[in-house]
Amino acid sequence: MTTDTSTEERAARTGLERASYALYRVRISAVQRIGASFVRLTMTSADLEHFGAGGYDQRFKVLLLKQPFESYDPPQDDWYTWWRELPEAVRPTMRTYTVRAFRPATIDTHAEMDVDFVLHGVQDGHAGPASRWAANAVVGDEAVLVGPSNPGTGRMWGVEWAPPATARTLLLAGDETAVPAVSAILERLPAGVKATALLEVPHAGDLIDLSCAADLTVEWLPRNGSHAPGELLQARVHEVASALVDEASSPVDFEDVDLDTTILWEVPEHAEPAGPECLYAWLAGESGVVKALRRHLVRDVGVPRSSVAFMGYWREGRAEGE
Ligand SMILES: Cc1cc2nc3c(=O)[nH]c(=O)nc-3n(C[C@H](O)[C@H](O)[C@H](O)COP(=O)(O)OP(=O)(O)OC[C@H]3O[C@@H](n4cnc5c(N)ncnc54)[C@H](O)[C@@H]3O)c2cc1C
Repeated sequence: MTTDTSTEERAARTGLERASYALYRVRISAVQRIGASFVRLTMTSADLEHFGAGGYDQRFKVLLLKQPFESYDPPQDDWYTWWRELPEAVRPTMRTYTVRAFRPATIDTHAEMDVDFVLHGVQDGHAGPASRWAANAVVGDEAVLVGPSNPGTGRMWGVEWAPPATARTLLLAGDETAVPAVSAILERLPAGVKATALLEVPHAGDLIDLSCAADLTVEWLPRNGSHAPGELLQARVHEVASALVDEASSPVDFEDVDLDTTILWEVPEHAEPAGPECLYAWLAGESGVVKALRRHLVRDVGVPRSSVAFMGYWREGRAEGE
């Protein structure tokens, strides 16, 4: 479920300027439990000063090392070929996360980055490597990140949030893995737009305060062990979308995505809302759930495909990259 290839393809297709990506060696400077299912790791280093932070839902990669960093010899350019060609026994596990907050260097401090990790599967012993690593992280631990190295913002910097300028009604829907991205997006929304955020999380203890200059409605949907993942989110998106779009248009031709052959990731390049309302929807979370949400919005409610960005952040039963 990595997006490097699609970023390359997108650069070729659109002619957009391509960010260059680099490795950043960082140290954990703070560990904070911010919810029942979330730990926030603050990462810092002199290296990080050069990170091209773009805000919104900016993603980056974390490389979980299998041996001391000094024994690797990464090149300055083309980290991906270097990583791919390493023998499997030593190749760092790579996972994708969101920059929850980035603070540039000051006279007294190095740059800092906050990352909010969902601790899925930790209690029942089914955690993946990244979740396990985050759950056990302590101040002083090292990590290696991959992110853009030149200043900029936008899709080539791993920022997918790109509603058309005319969008006045925004729907953001996702599960716990999308909470950091939605939080960071909301912080940057201007006054004058109406935003509805629907966030399904594992527990009532995961609710956090979200602030926004826009006219914001946030609904937290805690499963509390009583609902299957995606169940609450799908039900609520169905209700809310119909209310946001005054008149449903007729069902449209619809081509669904085959999750076994395709990465669930489509963000309109030049979204022009053409529906009955200027609605722009941003959907992220478990791939099967996101696929169903998108199908409902486009096929049943009549939201134009060009007004729906949808991203599979993880897939039930599959490790990232499988
Ligand atoms: C652009 C992008 C941004 C993301 N941002 C964040 C973020 O900021 N914070 C965050 O926590 N996650 C985020 N994710 C999701 C994260 O990358 C995945 O959850 C990832 O699979 C976790 O890696 P892992 O090593 O813990 O588990 P993996 O080894 O990838 O998976 C092991 C098993 O755990 C399951 N699994 C994976 N994630 C979850 C989950 N959340 N809940 C339940 N089961 C799961 C898999 O289906 C698999 O069976 C993001 C993903 C993308 C693509």
